[in-house]
Amino acid sequence: MICPRCDSNKVRKMVDSPVGKVWEVYLCEECFYSWRSTETINIHEKFKLDKEKIPTMQVIPPVPPLDK
Ligand SMILES: [Zn+2]
Repeated sequence: MICPRCDSNKVRKMVDSPVGKVWEVYLCEECFYSWRSTETINIHEKFKLDKEKIPTMQVIPPVPPLDK
């Protein structure tokens, strides 16, 4: 399985549905995108990520500097 957003193969199963075996939730360890196995995912080209983009993303809100 690959991540639908960044095409990474570092995908792991996060949870199973609480009742029955209806669905599973998967998580991408590269971009932290998560999705349900029953969803049909279609990520717009604009929201796709790759390894070059992730480190340049801004942190929102910005992390303030530590007090001395
Ligand atoms: Zn991903």
